[in-house]
Amino acid sequence: MDDAVIPGAALRVDLPARGLEGPLSHAQTALADVAHRFAHGVMRPAAAQLDRLAPDAVIAAGSPYWTVLQQFAAFGIDALTLHELPPEEGAELQSILFEELGWGDAGLAVSFGAGMLPSVVALLLNRPEFAQRWRGKGLGAWGITEPDHGTDMLDYDGALSAAGGVSRRPNCVAAADGGELVIRGQKSAWVSNGPVATHCILFCGYEEGGAVRGGCVLMVPLDAPGVSRGKPLDKLGQRALPQGEIYFDDVRVARDCLVAGPDDYARAVYLTLAHANAGMGAAFVGVARAAYEHAFAYVHERRQGGAPLIRHQNVRYACSTCFARSRRRARSIAVRCATTRCTRAVPRCRAPSPARSRRRRPRSKSPARRCRSSAAPGWRASFRWRSCCAMRAPR
Ligand SMILES: Cc1cc2nc3c(=O)[nH]c(=O)nc-3n(C[C@H](O)[C@H](O)[C@H](O)COP(=O)(O)OP(=O)(O)OC[C@H]3O[C@@H](n4cnc5c(N)ncnc54)[C@H](O)[C@@H]3O)c2cc1C
Repeated sequence: MDDAVIPGAALRVDLPARGLEGPLSHAQTALADVAHRFAHGVMRPAAAQLDRLAPDAVIAAGSPYWTVLQQFAAFGIDALTLHELPPEEGAELQSILFEELGWGDAGLAVSFGAGMLPSVVALLLNRPEFAQRWRGKGLGAWGITEPDHGTDMLDYDGALSAAGGVSRRPNCVAAADGGELVIRGQKSAWVSNGPVATHCILFCGYEEGGAVRGGCVLMVPLDAPGVSRGKPLDKLGQRALPQGEIYFDDVRVARDCLVAGPDDYARAVYLTLAHANAGMGAAFVGVARAAYEHAFAYVHERRQGGAPLIRHQNVRYACSTCFARSRRRARSIAVRCATTRCTRAVPRCRAPSPARSRRRRPRSKSPARRCRSSAAPGWRASFRWRSCCAMRAPR
């Protein structure tokens, strides 16, 4: 549609790639361009084919999945490349890269991210030899979720348990046996790359003297005797991402594969989540951007009420809100999460729970004060606080 017929079009300002954020450096622009071309030319066509295949066919020999993985590997950016950069620069590049990959396809982006994660965790926990060992070879997976333990795996000390809640034994446990560790149990069907990964960074229970004494992190080669896999999961979305169970039937690994023991489990969880969540945040900013672009093209094509949809004021309002959320606010939050959390020795991942913050802050007897302490953050807080005060504060 001709800009001239859109009221206010003359005021249009072409924002730079990062909206109102600071401009990208030369290296960042180059990475964003290359990643965008890869997302557009390689990921999108492959994802469209993979989306229509049965989960078994996605991972069968000759599937486009394998070609895309090879092309991503040839891209030359891996955990070690990002780790070698100054922390803030590495975190920013990771955000730029994963936003473009997410724009290409969410399923493939998660597959690439999960593939890198064992090396990322090994580097964060000062075991670079594992990252070197798997560099340019195979595909990684992160085994943390279990059939009976999702969020529980992150709540290492039970601080978020319900009052009177009783924790159940982990589904997957490693026990020391001489110079080796013996792994028994399983991880859930949500493990990304589970059906095809060559190695896994495994977060599981640690057993000592017949009792589970917290969690541990192990690097496990998945060709070890006793490892088997479930069928790839048949999902509604992200069909290009193979996910499935990994079973451990008395799998023996050297003690040296222990990357973090029970005393270091909390730090391992926090560091891993800071990086994995920052990567996922960036990838889904890319998904939001792609959704916005589809919608924006559609409202220029589709005519109703005698004009393209974009001529209707409410549609323009919805588009501008979506633009502001996906391209500016979400990206800015994702980049800041990456640069603040991934650059700390032990990032803080857990917000204080309402129960704990109430315990710390004694309740005031003044009605106005009581409203303020119980209000939710953001605009709701100020709204509730003001309206409560108007109604209840003594005159
Ligand atoms: C696309 C995708 C990729 C994934 N990739 C991997 C992977 O590579 N490896 C892997 O191991 N896992 C993977 N997962 C699994 C994912 O990490 C889990 O889904 C996640 O940890 C949540 O666990 P759950 O689904 O069992 O939810 P649950 O833990 O059962 O939680 C259900 C709901 O209850 C709430 N809840 C739970 N506990 C509490 C509490 N104590 N207090 C308050 N609220 C609570 C949660 O917030 C949630 O809303 C993947 C999942 C998806 C969707």
